[in-house]
Amino acid sequence: MAKVSIIVPCHNEQEMIPILYEALDHESKQLSDYEFEFLLVDDGSRDRTMEEIRKVAAKDPRVHYISFSRNFGKEGAMYAGLKNAQGDYCVIMDADLQDPPALLKQMIDAIEIEGYDSCATRRVTRAGEPPIRSFFARQFYKLMNKASDVDMVDGARDYRMMTRPFVNAILQMGEYNRFSKGIFGWVGFKTKWLEYENVERVAGETKWSFWKLFKYAISGIVSFSTVPLQFASAFGMLLSVVSFFAIIFIVVRKMMFGDPVAGWPSTICIIMLIGGIQLLSIGILGQYVSRTYMEVKERPIYLCREANFDLNDEKQMPLVATAPSQKSNSKSHDGGIG
Ligand code: UDP
Ligand code: MG
Repeated sequence: MAKVSIIVPCHNEQEMIPILYEALDHESKQLSDYEFEFLLVDDGSRDRTMEEIRKVAAKDPRVHYISFSRNFGKEGAMYAGLKNAQGDYCVIMDADLQDPPALLKQMIDAIEIEGYDSCATRRVTRAGEPPIRSFFARQFYKLMNKASDVDMVDGARDYRMMTRPFVNAILQMGEYNRFSKGIFGWVGFKTKWLEYENVERVAGETKWSFWKLFKYAISGIVSFSTVPLQFASAFGMLLSVVSFFAIIFIVVRKMMFGDPVAGWPSTICIIMLIGGIQLLSIGILGQYVSRTYMEVKERPIYLCREANFDLNDEKQMPLVATAPSQKSNSKSHDGGIG
């Protein structure tokens, strides 16, 4: 019997946990030919999310959880989920039920019957989203597709089902600055896209501010494209060539006509323009250097504070012992919890 792991990153989702569990439990009954694991990853929630997760874990042994020592971001939570999931198929799903669990059946069919390695989803509408956000999101996808060699689909969600080889490929990309939309595209394989209309969050509120999304977008560009660097060099080159001819022109004019003192304002303007461009280019360079710095440190992508099963991650220390009664009899690995 194939095992399906459903990985759910949860950050301050106290209202959603019971509703989510009901929905997952209901869906798993429809798919009775499969074994399920619900892997809830608590990403440093500050509300009662963990209590709610413990409650559902106590009544259903299929519920596994990992709780982080602080908020590491959704990317960290997805990585932790994939790293520790035991299923043959892994699914990433949001806690707010914006990713309809009813699509699971179609996803399984895409993999088992149609032979895809992964089945992903994209929303074809952005209803319920502020228009300014949709506008920037669209521009971002256009820019990304031009500037990088990975294929990124507009409206793509993180909601997707992956086969084991696909998951292993993702895990090979152990980078610290993670941008999953790019990573999924980068690894290749055959992906089927399911389309659906945007569903609004069932309860709670979005964890993404505009600023957080903006930083995420920049991180995506820097992680998957070196075009900004090429742009900075090309611009520098162009300016140097123009200035070179301008200097020749000025010298020749001086020798032929003398030099009536004029043009101070234009000189200052040009100095400021060039100064600005230089700072911008150094800034772009800085973005890459700072990311290289973070990668070189090889810090763990997440830190586990508590879990109710043995982790499958060399980088995680056994931190807090979990009560034996809550421990499932999953396979044990090196560096496990407990
Ligand atoms: N999330 C997370 N860590 C964070 C922010 C969000 O694990 O720092 C989770 C959140 O609990 C949810 C999912 O990521 O399950 C998507 O978040 P949200 O619904 O707020 O984003 P949106 O759907 O508005 O893009
Ligand atoms: Mg959401």
